[in-house]
Amino acid sequence: MPNLPITVRSSMGLDRSKCISCNMCVMVCPNSVIKLTSEKDENNKKVLKSYHMDVGRCLFCGMCAEVCPTKALTVTQEFENSVFEPDGLQWDMIQRAERKGKVG
Ligand code: SF4
Ligand code: SF4
Repeated sequence: MPNLPITVRSSMGLDRSKCISCNMCVMVCPNSVIKLTSEKDENNKKVLKSYHMDVGRCLFCGMCAEVCPTKALTVTQEFENSVFEPDGLQWDMIQRAERKGKVG
């Protein structure tokens, strides 16, 4: 990874284990980029089931990461995100985290 200026914002990362499915990120996003689903476990606690981002619409403004109470969502500097088809900009954030070997 090159040494990029700290102001560069080019990708998003999700740590599923930290997400409490509060929906704050969904509500704050000005472009309706984020869609998530959750279910209740046996203790009536919400558990994240799916988390998708339509990254082609993302401004990388960082508001979603800012409001996230658990820092589950972060803006990152990963920049190799080119795709051939627009469908490639529909990110399954749980799968992406799993592919990178993070907790997903
Ligand atoms: S960075 Fe901004 S535009 Fe992108 S998902 Fe977060 S709030 Fe929405
Ligand atoms: S704001 Fe954070 S904790 Fe809440 S649903 Fe979004 S990613 Fe999960």
